[in-house]
Amino acid sequence: MPIFEYECGGCGAAFEMLVRSADVKVACPGCGSGEVAKQFSSFAVAAAERFTSSVGTGCGCAPTG
Ligand SMILES: [Zn+2]
Repeated sequence: MPIFEYECGGCGAAFEMLVRSADVKVACPGCGSGEVAKQFSSFAVAAAERFTSSVGTGCGCAPTG
């Protein structure tokens, strides 16, 4: 799910909103103003890309004796 970062033009508060569509109406949770500017945050994408599980690939160098 896409998480967009907004910055309120009224009070200047920055907040993140989980929206389904990029065309959805977003209001500031602080002052309720609709004058919000959408920021393109990269942390959400970076966090998603970090979820690549590479665990389980053992080297198989177990000593057998
Ligand atoms: Zn605000």
